[in-house]
Amino acid sequence: MTHTPRKRFGQNFLHDHSIINNILASIQTQPDEHWVEIGPGMGALTEPLLKKGLRLDIVELDRDLVSLLKDKFRHYNNLQIHSADALKFNFSELASSSPDILKQNEKLRVIGNLPYNISTPLMFHLLDNAYCIEDMHFMLQKEVVERICAAPDSKKYGRLSVMMQYYCETELLFEVPPESFDPAPKVMSAIVRLIPHQQPPVIVNDVKKLNRVVTEAFSQRRKTLRNSLKKLVTEEQIVSLDINPVLRAENLSLNDFAKLGNLLD
Ligand code: SAH
Repeated sequence: MTHTPRKRFGQNFLHDHSIINNILASIQTQPDEHWVEIGPGMGALTEPLLKKGLRLDIVELDRDLVSLLKDKFRHYNNLQIHSADALKFNFSELASSSPDILKQNEKLRVIGNLPYNISTPLMFHLLDNAYCIEDMHFMLQKEVVERICAAPDSKKYGRLSVMMQYYCETELLFEVPPESFDPAPKVMSAIVRLIPHQQPPVIVNDVKKLNRVVTEAFSQRRKTLRNSLKKLVTEEQIVSLDINPVLRAENLSLNDFAKLGNLLD
């Protein structure tokens, strides 16, 4: 079985068994769980997952790989293969019940060594249906994982940190060097664990407003808030929330951003 990796599909296949084993040790699967793998490629993670006996749905865009996977895993009856674009895929349909009656053990556990060019939109697409997701483990560029997990007052703290931390608990698990893949990417990678919050950690009236204020504040991150947020809120409004208007975006907590977002019309 051969397949020439395609750059346009972001194909970097994992071939380092110690990394695959580290991933498996981190995720701690149970046989009665329902898993979803995004971008299975040639099945480096798919195969060990299938062997655990759990229920697995995989979503792959490259049709050649879909045929290869169908053939390779034809003897497994715990696998469903979806030939589809994960960015457009309706993940909530895989979860059997509606939000109010979904039981904990029916939630999806998501995993993927993601194509790096689509990783951010894909994570937000999945988080649109966060209610049906138990957790997610992704291989991403290390730089992106650091931005997702960054705390205030650091250079890496930005829009991605605030928005992801609004939806999830985030944790960098371990780094993965380029030579673990074929072909080797140019950058270091890392595994991130994302656990959607059961209850929102802060009060947000409308997530679009939170997003607007966060985007605006970080689009001019060197400016003080009273300048960077001029179009959205007045200096008096910022002060009324007990936030110092001469701070910069990177000094604000998620809760500060939530309060600012709640001020918008
Ligand atoms: N998980 C495999 C492959 C990683 S490469 C491994 O670790 O070896 C990334 C995979 O994502 C490729 O198989 C690629 O074809 C697939 N892919 C790229 N864009 C996708 C999309 N929009 N939806 C689903 N799969 C996609």
